[in-house]
Amino acid sequence: MAKGKILITGGTGYIGSHTVVELFNAGYEPIIIDNLSNSNISVLDGIKAITGHSVIYENIDCKDYNSLERFLEKHPEIVAIAHFAASKSVGESVENPLLYYRNNIVSLINLLQLMPKFGIKNIVFSSSCTVYGQPDVLPVTEKSPIKPATSPYGSTKQMCETILYDFTHANKDINVVLLRYFNPIGAHPSGEIGELPNGIPNNLLPYITQTAAGIRKELSVFGNDYDTPDGSCIRDYINVVDLAKAHVVALNRLIDGKNEKNIEVFNLGTGSGVSVLEIINAFEKATGVKVPYKIAPRRPGDIEKVWADTSLANKELGWSSKETLEDTLRSAWNWQKKLEEKNSVTNG
Ligand code: UDP
Repeated sequence: MAKGKILITGGTGYIGSHTVVELFNAGYEPIIIDNLSNSNISVLDGIKAITGHSVIYENIDCKDYNSLERFLEKHPEIVAIAHFAASKSVGESVENPLLYYRNNIVSLINLLQLMPKFGIKNIVFSSSCTVYGQPDVLPVTEKSPIKPATSPYGSTKQMCETILYDFTHANKDINVVLLRYFNPIGAHPSGEIGELPNGIPNNLLPYITQTAAGIRKELSVFGNDYDTPDGSCIRDYINVVDLAKAHVVALNRLIDGKNEKNIEVFNLGTGSGVSVLEIINAFEKATGVKVPYKIAPRRPGDIEKVWADTSLANKELGWSSKETLEDTLRSAWNWQKKLEEKNSVTNG
């Protein structure tokens, strides 16, 4: 008997799929909606291979209010939502801002509007360290000021947080955990699921693994003239399985009524900043595979450096990141190689 049904929007996506696995491991019944705009249906096979569970899935776009409503009517036992479905690329958002405002804001509003109607009281929201803009003081804590966003993507995450604050203020029986992710990387140790962007990757790690695999000629390092020790940008790279586990803890907290306020916010990172050039070196060291790269101009919308103070999540959620950077990079490479093997079987 499952502990409860959890609706996972964007559940075939990168973080969503890893969270689905961890929720099954924790005894919940996650069910997925996703419009496959940046994911693949084959992820469901990966989830089954790891957990033994065939997960309920429907192709639904969260912008489509009526389809969402029909789906919720069919699943009255949902106790919480983890809302991952969103567009997430800084660079793409600069080029196509309306896509980001529409996808990220409308989807959240639709879900919130439907929650009271279906008696769903709990939601975990995927926020991002981009809400801090370029912080003056590092590491950033949850109390650090929210600076102007440097990209439409960052703006949407700030707006979604504001919407959630306003909504919980007006609806005291709705409970929210905002999780501000730093940079999730790596893959499930089984190599059955991982990051699977459609087309040319925007994010650093899939670009690195595809370059290492010979799919891309070389990686462009966006800028080496930042005010950092080696001139490349610094981020806090967090293992995706560690990140997924934080969602289980956050959902437990909401479902068990252990939250102290009806909206809470937590940074999820490792607490350490690593530069782009350091990531390339660490990847080469961990895997023994070279990553050809060139220095390219700065990418519009990028911030220079950010890493997390995670003490609040450590204390309140009892959560901390566990995996080393080396193991995490190896897991990303393991996933990429498995993908190549699968593709060669399918094509050959
Ligand atoms: N980056 C890069 N080359 C790429 C992709 C990303 O140099 O092909 C850099 C990017 O400028 C940033 C870091 O890698 O400093 C992480 O970028 P990503 O897009 O993965 O995540 P973001 O921090 O933008 O959310």
